[in-house]
Amino acid sequence: MYQTSSPLDKGSRGEERGLEATHGSSGGVIPMAELAGDVFGAATPRGLGGLGGAEEGPLDAIHVFWIAGMSCDGCSVAVTGATSPSVEELLAGTIPGIPKVVLHHPVLSVSAGHGFMKPFAQAVEGTLGAPYVVVLEGSVPDDQRFEEVGYFSGLGVGADWPDSMDSPRVPDQPLRVTDWIKAMAPEAAAMVAIGTCATWGGVPAAAGNITGSMGLMDFLGKDYRSALGVPVVNIPGCSPVGDNFTETVAAVLMFLQGIGPLPEFDELGRPAWLFGETVHRHCVRAGYYEEGVFAEEFGDPECLVEVGCWGPVVQCNITERGAINHMGGCMVAGGPCIGCTMPGFPDKFSPFYKTPPGSALSGAMARTYGAHIRRLRRISMGHRNREPLWDRTGEIPSGFAREKKRPTLLAKVEGLFYERLQYHGTVHQGRRNERQPVPESRNVLDDGGASRSLEES
Ligand code: SF4
Repeated sequence: MYQTSSPLDKGSRGEERGLEATHGSSGGVIPMAELAGDVFGAATPRGLGGLGGAEEGPLDAIHVFWIAGMSCDGCSVAVTGATSPSVEELLAGTIPGIPKVVLHHPVLSVSAGHGFMKPFAQAVEGTLGAPYVVVLEGSVPDDQRFEEVGYFSGLGVGADWPDSMDSPRVPDQPLRVTDWIKAMAPEAAAMVAIGTCATWGGVPAAAGNITGSMGLMDFLGKDYRSALGVPVVNIPGCSPVGDNFTETVAAVLMFLQGIGPLPEFDELGRPAWLFGETVHRHCVRAGYYEEGVFAEEFGDPECLVEVGCWGPVVQCNITERGAINHMGGCMVAGGPCIGCTMPGFPDKFSPFYKTPPGSALSGAMARTYGAHIRRLRRISMGHRNREPLWDRTGEIPSGFAREKKRPTLLAKVEGLFYERLQYHGTVHQGRRNERQPVPESRNVLDDGGASRSLEES
């Protein structure tokens, strides 16, 4: 069910320009992307959604141009570790229904030099023959203010610059990454910012930086829409969860192919299903917080809020998703959340590892009621740590439990009360035990074990 209109269409350039529509194989009316032939090359067939795929069917391939701005390459490392789906699956086109991804990556691609740069120029000139998406890793430096030469992040040289551009460059001088972003953004099917540097500026944009670094959204401006009417998609994290990127790419591709619903994005362009919850809600240590038990130093197993965790107010799914292959992640590995997915990072979360002021109130409250809840739970847990049979015989036949105390009077009273509430209005099936004969313990060693039984028989 290809969606014929979406929130992304609202106010999009497509709507403004009154695009024509076509019929997809499902019979639904599919909006044609503007300038499909021009954008992706005059020879490009206009397929589903006008994206340049086969006339009668979905796309076969889509190009992804991975550009690095003010970056440490951590996002690349994170994404190559993704497993659901993996980069390999996207590149090989082995996911049913999803077009093969042709990746142009400065580190992962096998081509180099002018050969590597040629498709960038083809994309700008519309001769690529397929739609393209630009992925930016690292923040965008404010180097367009340099008039002739000078850059903070470079990609290729003047000889790689498209001939059609009316601003010729010096052949052997580096091109700015910002030159390419400006040239490719208007006709990209989507612009995707990966990592906190690309989304919100991140560390390179921290107070005191000299580069004027900013996020992709800040650079492109609030009115930016891609050729398909999509605002900048943001997948933050420092480094991001690799699966968050590959899963979003897969979801968008499925939508473009007409086999998936429109992925939902929040007001900041984050995939809503990945960033709608706080770290705290799914943290493996959240139970400690609730019971008011806090780590005092690194290495303690309890809640890390007092050693600087901002998890209760940070939108991130690392606690559910893990770092790689559903394993690891900050709190699992003992690291407090320092808010790396948030637009306010890092300045608004510093100094790191200092107790966030907000936790003084919630922590004190958790301590107060948590102490009582903890005690009551211990009693309840003790009661449920005994088989009903042991309650009847009054003994626990475990060699490890010889020192175990019998339930106190308080525990027994609490148990009775608890049971009353637990089975109020329902049937206490466990009671049937009391009418059954008590199973007999064999005391195997006292009986002489198996050898004696054999002799007797
Ligand atoms: Fe919440 Fe952080 Fe404590 Fe986890 S470690 S329970 S995220 S405050």
